Amino acid sequence: MVNRRKFAKDVTGYLPVCATVASMVTASSAQQAAQPGAAPAAGRAGRGGSGRGPQGPPDPFAGSPVGDMLPGQKWRVHDHDRPQPRKVTPGHPVPVPSAPSDAIVLFDGKDLSKWTAGGGRAGAAVTEPQWKIVDGHAEMRGGISTKESFGDIQLHVEWTTPPVDDPNRVGQQRGNSGIVFMGRYEVQVLSGYTNLTYPDGGAGGIYGVYPPMVNPCLPEGQWNTYDFVFEAPKFDADKLVKPAFITLFFNGVMVHNRAELLGTTSHEPIAVYTPHAPELPLQLQGHVGPAWYRNIWVRRLLGYDA
Ligand code: MG
Repeated sequence: MVNRRKFAKDVTGYLPVCATVASMVTASSAQQAAQPGAAPAAGRAGRGGSGRGPQGPPDPFAGSPVGDMLPGQKWRVHDHDRPQPRKVTPGHPVPVPSAPSDAIVLFDGKDLSKWTAGGGRAGAAVTEPQWKIVDGHAEMRGGISTKESFGDIQLHVEWTTPPVDDPNRVGQQRGNSGIVFMGRYEVQVLSGYTNLTYPDGGAGGIYGVYPPMVNPCLPEGQWNTYDFVFEAPKFDADKLVKPAFITLFFNGVMVHNRAELLGTTSHEPIAVYTPHAPELPLQLQGHVGPAWYRNIWVRRLLGYDA
């Protein structure tokens, strides 16, 4: 494991002294507050994450108070002392599979006709995503949701966080988006090669629950791949009868092996389930970005003999 101190030392040259980050955090907090994976404004009570000293560099943990103990773990939500996931260089080339014949292609680099900016809620108006399509990729501008709903799925997503000139943008303020299953369960998209943040909020993390087992994220501007198996939770009326599970290969490297989710993604308190329909839209989170996506496809998992 690479602890925070070691990781911070590795990226010392990358974190320059600069002007305040607090105003940036505050400005984006209203947008974040309504979203899974949201970090509250700087200065909120909690262990660590207090911003920075008057002369210090921007604190990548700013605005990230530590929460309650996670059930079944020895860490708290967003624990700053949790070990940073060990860095792994993925194999080359990173696998970029095209869609199998029974997949639903959600984005092929040409149009976003399978998506709506309407939030993916039942009865929400279908509105045109404002994302910009450039050279076969889509650039995040607010959240988008699939028009179609899904339960158990295999999902392939390619994403990158392009370089950001502003050195004040660190931690959760750098390339933040997310893959939000059923509009509720987020796996983080974030600049993750050298950008330090709390481990359960890093790229490939099940936000607020588990960091990725290792960190195979590529440098900003290079394309990463996520290959998921997502098992939807099952409810009997108001009772949870089966939790959700996520398996993730990140650039071909397994980082979650049927990890059990605690509930709907939450900054704090601990995530809990609320009953919902067996199928719901997939969401790509609109957070502070920048984040680009390409080659997104999904397969319904129908089981044997289907
Ligand atoms: Mg996010």
